[in-house]
Amino acid sequence: CDFSHLCLAEWAIQTCKVLGMKKPTPVQQHCIPRILAGDDVLGLAQTGSGKTAAFSLPILHRLAEDPYGVFALVLTPTRELAYQLAEQFRALGSSLHLRCTVVVGGMDIINQAKTLMQRPHVVIATPGRLKVLLEQNPDIPAVFSKTKFLVLDEADRVLDVGFEGELRVVFQNLPKDRQTLLFSATMTSDLQTILELSANKTYFYEE
Ligand code: AMP
Repeated sequence: CDFSHLCLAEWAIQTCKVLGMKKPTPVQQHCIPRILAGDDVLGLAQTGSGKTAAFSLPILHRLAEDPYGVFALVLTPTRELAYQLAEQFRALGSSLHLRCTVVVGGMDIINQAKTLMQRPHVVIATPGRLKVLLEQNPDIPAVFSKTKFLVLDEADRVLDVGFEGELRVVFQNLPKDRQTLLFSATMTSDLQTILELSANKTYFYEE
């Protein structure tokens, strides 16, 4: 199997080639076609498995068909992971004029609010800072009113930092008809709860 067998657009296949990604990894092979088909996904996969490209390639494929912001929201447990994710999104989306922003604690919240108001295509956030922005600035919730994808990267750890508080606020502000993509090292009861909230068919992938 190579990238041309996954129903991805030609530009995306070319980008993979340019980045030296010769063959899709197993998580990419299994999850990319399902995400493109509209399914929710729960992928149990470790760092290093290629899980980031497994969700960012199909998101970018869909974004290129109808580019608007905020198209995708990616939640991740730490600042460092947020910046790494942004780097991969920018590399994979380099031919798209992609606008991607990182919203994490410790950075100027006024600037973050201003950037969000410009509706970037992809927002990569830690849940705590995003909750503060959603609650303290009345203009921010509307920014996510048409969001098509919610990704929980390292979902077990994201849920650890505050399912009850932060994530409920985020979930309340996203449309119900979005796709939800969960990637986690382990299966947890909080993940099970999120799956039960999902209205779509969920494809389950385990490494
Ligand atoms: P991740 O599991 O998403 O943290 O990715 C681990 C690393 O593998 C990243 O540096 C990617 O750039 C790289 N990578 C992802 N997919 C592929 C692929 N199909 N072929 C080669 N390298 C890849």
